[in-house]
Amino acid sequence: MRSEAIVVGDGIAGAMTALALARRNVRTTLVDRWEPGHSRVSSTDYNRVIRSIHGRDEFYTRWARESRERWLELQAETGQKLYYECGALVLATAGHCDWEDATAETFQKLGVPYCRYVVTRGTSPLSSQFGDEGDTHEQGSARDRA
Ligand SMILES: Cc1cc2nc3c(=O)[nH]c(=O)nc-3n(C[C@H](O)[C@H](O)[C@H](O)COP(=O)(O)OP(=O)(O)OC[C@H]3O[C@@H](n4cnc5c(N)ncnc54)[C@H](O)[C@@H]3O)c2cc1C
Repeated sequence: MRSEAIVVGDGIAGAMTALALARRNVRTTLVDRWEPGHSRVSSTDYNRVIRSIHGRDEFYTRWARESRERWLELQAETGQKLYYECGALVLATAGHCDWEDATAETFQKLGVPYCRYVVTRGTSPLSSQFGDEGDTHEQGSARDRA
Protein backbone atom coordinates (compact mmCIF):
# COMPACT_ATOMS: atom_id res chain seq x y z
CA MET A 1 0.00 0.00 0.00
CA ARG A 2 1.47 3.37 -1.01
CA SER A 3 2.05 6.00 1.61
CA GLU A 4 0.35 9.34 1.28
CA ALA A 5 2.88 10.93 3.59
CA ILE A 6 6.44 10.14 4.63
CA VAL A 7 7.76 11.61 7.85
CA VAL A 8 11.55 11.57 8.21
CA GLY A 9 12.88 11.48 11.76
CA ASP A 10 11.29 9.51 14.60
CA GLY A 11 11.96 11.95 17.42
CA ILE A 12 9.07 13.54 19.30
CA ALA A 13 8.34 15.98 16.44
CA GLY A 14 8.29 13.28 13.77
CA ALA A 15 6.43 10.74 15.91
CA MET A 16 3.70 13.21 16.87
CA THR A 17 3.40 14.43 13.27
CA ALA A 18 3.02 10.85 12.05
CA LEU A 19 0.48 10.13 14.79
CA ALA A 20 -1.55 13.24 13.91
CA LEU A 21 -1.55 12.23 10.23
CA ALA A 22 -2.54 8.64 11.04
CA ARG A 23 -5.41 9.92 13.20
CA ARG A 24 -6.64 11.80 10.13
CA ASN A 25 -6.55 8.52 8.17
CA VAL A 26 -3.54 9.60 6.12
CA ARG A 27 -1.45 6.53 5.20
CA THR A 28 1.85 7.49 6.78
CA THR A 29 5.33 6.01 6.83
CA LEU A 30 7.69 7.13 9.58
CA VAL A 31 11.37 6.57 8.84
CA ASP A 32 14.52 7.04 10.84
CA ARG A 33 18.14 6.21 10.25
CA TRP A 34 18.26 4.37 13.58
CA GLU A 35 16.03 1.87 15.42
CA PRO A 36 12.88 3.05 17.32
CA GLY A 37 13.66 4.60 20.71
CA HIS A 38 17.41 4.80 19.99
CA SER A 39 19.56 6.66 22.47
CA ARG A 40 21.04 9.17 19.98
CA VAL A 41 17.76 11.06 19.62
CA SER A 42 17.37 14.20 21.73
CA SER A 43 13.73 13.30 22.48
CA THR A 44 14.82 10.18 24.38
CA ASP A 45 15.84 10.12 28.03
CA TYR A 46 14.45 9.32 31.46
CA ASN A 47 12.56 12.59 31.66
CA ARG A 48 11.56 15.73 29.82
CA VAL A 49 9.66 18.66 31.28
CA ILE A 50 6.82 20.83 30.02
CA ARG A 51 6.99 24.39 31.34
CA SER A 52 3.94 26.66 31.38
CA ILE A 53 5.81 29.49 33.09
CA HIS A 54 6.76 32.03 30.43
CA GLY A 55 6.12 35.52 31.80
CA ARG A 56 4.18 37.59 29.27
CA ASP A 57 4.77 35.12 26.44
CA GLU A 58 1.18 33.92 26.47
CA PHE A 59 1.73 31.97 23.26
CA TYR A 60 4.22 29.61 24.97
CA THR A 61 1.98 29.15 27.99
CA ARG A 62 -0.91 28.21 25.70
CA TRP A 63 1.38 25.84 23.82
CA ALA A 64 2.58 24.16 27.01
CA ARG A 65 -1.00 23.68 28.22
CA GLU A 66 -1.98 22.26 24.84
CA SER A 67 0.99 19.91 25.01
CA ARG A 68 -0.11 18.78 28.48
CA GLU A 69 -3.57 17.95 27.10
CA ARG A 70 -2.03 15.91 24.28
CA TRP A 71 0.16 13.94 26.72
CA LEU A 72 -2.86 13.23 28.95
CA GLU A 73 -4.80 12.07 25.89
CA LEU A 74 -1.97 9.81 24.79
CA GLN A 75 -1.69 8.43 28.31
CA ALA A 76 -5.41 7.62 28.41
CA GLU A 77 -5.26 6.11 24.93
CA THR A 78 -2.26 3.87 25.63
CA GLY A 79 -3.09 3.03 29.24
CA GLN A 80 0.56 3.76 30.07
CA LYS A 81 1.80 6.20 32.67
CA LEU A 82 3.63 8.69 30.44
CA TYR A 83 3.12 11.96 32.25
CA TYR A 84 3.79 12.83 35.90
CA GLU A 85 2.36 16.15 37.02
CA CYS A 86 4.63 17.46 39.75
CA GLY A 87 4.20 21.23 39.45
CA ALA A 88 7.04 23.73 39.49
CA LEU A 89 8.39 26.01 42.20
CA VAL A 90 9.66 29.47 41.27
CA LEU A 91 11.37 31.58 43.93
CA ALA A 92 11.72 35.34 43.56
CA THR A 93 12.63 38.34 45.69
CA ALA A 94 10.17 41.18 46.24
CA GLY A 95 11.00 44.01 43.84
CA HIS A 96 12.75 41.62 41.46
CA CYS A 97 9.82 39.57 40.29
CA ASP A 98 8.49 41.22 37.11
CA TRP A 99 8.68 37.97 35.20
CA GLU A 100 6.94 36.01 37.97
CA ASP A 101 4.23 38.70 38.27
CA ALA A 102 3.75 38.61 34.50
CA THR A 103 3.48 34.82 34.64
CA ALA A 104 0.81 35.10 37.36
CA GLU A 105 -1.15 37.56 35.16
CA THR A 106 -0.89 35.21 32.18
CA PHE A 107 -2.02 32.30 34.36
CA GLN A 108 -5.01 34.32 35.63
CA LYS A 109 -5.94 35.24 32.07
CA LEU A 110 -5.68 31.68 30.75
CA GLY A 111 -7.10 29.96 33.85
CA VAL A 112 -3.90 28.08 34.63
CA PRO A 113 -4.03 26.91 38.27
CA TYR A 114 -1.25 28.17 40.52
CA CYS A 115 -0.49 29.04 44.12
CA ARG A 116 1.29 32.18 45.22
CA TYR A 117 2.95 32.61 48.58
CA VAL A 118 4.38 35.76 50.10
CA VAL A 119 6.97 34.90 52.69
CA THR A 120 7.99 37.35 55.38
CA ARG A 121 11.38 37.17 57.04
CA GLY A 122 12.04 33.94 58.90
CA THR A 123 9.22 31.88 57.43
CA SER A 124 9.15 29.23 54.76
CA PRO A 125 6.39 28.65 52.18
CA LEU A 126 6.70 24.94 52.83
CA SER A 127 6.22 25.26 56.58
CA SER A 128 2.60 26.39 56.08
CA GLN A 129 1.90 23.30 54.01
CA PHE A 130 3.08 21.06 56.82
CA GLY A 131 1.11 22.67 59.62
CA ASP A 132 3.38 25.47 60.87
CA GLU A 133 1.45 28.60 59.97
CA GLY A 134 4.22 31.09 60.70
CA ASP A 135 3.30 34.38 59.04
CA THR A 136 3.27 32.95 55.56
CA HIS A 137 0.07 33.55 53.65
CA GLU A 138 -1.31 32.43 50.39
CA GLN A 139 -2.45 34.57 47.50
CA GLY A 140 -3.92 33.64 44.15
CA SER A 141 -5.88 30.52 43.48
CA ALA A 142 -5.07 27.09 44.80
CA ARG A 143 -7.31 24.99 42.58
CA ASP A 144 -4.47 22.83 41.35
CA ARG A 145 -0.80 22.97 40.59
CA ALA A 146 0.63 24.65 37.50
C1 LIG B 1 19.90 16.94 27.30
C2 LIG B 1 18.62 17.54 26.72
C3 LIG B 1 17.57 17.83 27.59
C4 LIG B 1 16.38 18.39 27.08
N1 LIG B 1 15.35 18.61 27.94
C5 LIG B 1 14.19 19.07 27.45
C6 LIG B 1 13.07 19.22 28.30
O1 LIG B 1 13.12 18.93 29.47
N2 LIG B 1 11.91 19.69 27.75
C7 LIG B 1 11.80 20.00 26.43
O2 LIG B 1 10.72 20.40 25.99
N3 LIG B 1 12.85 19.86 25.60
C8 LIG B 1 14.03 19.40 26.08
N4 LIG B 1 15.09 19.24 25.24
C9 LIG B 1 14.91 19.57 23.86
C10 LIG B 1 14.12 18.45 23.20
O3 LIG B 1 14.61 17.21 23.61
C11 LIG B 1 14.25 18.62 21.71
O4 LIG B 1 13.84 19.92 21.33
C12 LIG B 1 13.37 17.62 21.01
O5 LIG B 1 13.65 16.33 21.44
C13 LIG B 1 13.59 17.72 19.51
O6 LIG B 1 12.79 16.74 18.93
P1 LIG B 1 12.92 16.40 17.43
O7 LIG B 1 11.92 15.32 17.14
O8 LIG B 1 12.88 17.65 16.62
O9 LIG B 1 14.43 15.90 17.22
P2 LIG B 1 15.08 14.54 17.75
O10 LIG B 1 14.43 14.04 18.98
O11 LIG B 1 16.55 14.78 17.81
O12 LIG B 1 14.75 13.52 16.62
C14 LIG B 1 15.32 13.60 15.33
C15 LIG B 1 15.24 12.22 14.71
O13 LIG B 1 15.55 12.34 13.32
C16 LIG B 1 16.44 11.29 12.96
N5 LIG B 1 17.19 11.73 11.80
C17 LIG B 1 18.03 12.78 11.74
N6 LIG B 1 18.51 12.87 10.48
C18 LIG B 1 17.96 11.87 9.77
C19 LIG B 1 18.08 11.47 8.42
N7 LIG B 1 18.88 12.10 7.56
N8 LIG B 1 17.36 10.39 8.01
C20 LIG B 1 16.54 9.74 8.88
N9 LIG B 1 16.39 10.08 10.17
C21 LIG B 1 17.10 11.15 10.61
C22 LIG B 1 17.29 11.07 14.19
O14 LIG B 1 17.90 9.78 14.18
C23 LIG B 1 16.25 11.23 15.30
O15 LIG B 1 15.61 10.01 15.60
C24 LIG B 1 16.28 18.68 25.70
C25 LIG B 1 17.34 18.38 24.84
C26 LIG B 1 18.49 17.81 25.33
C27 LIG B 1 19.62 17.48 24.37
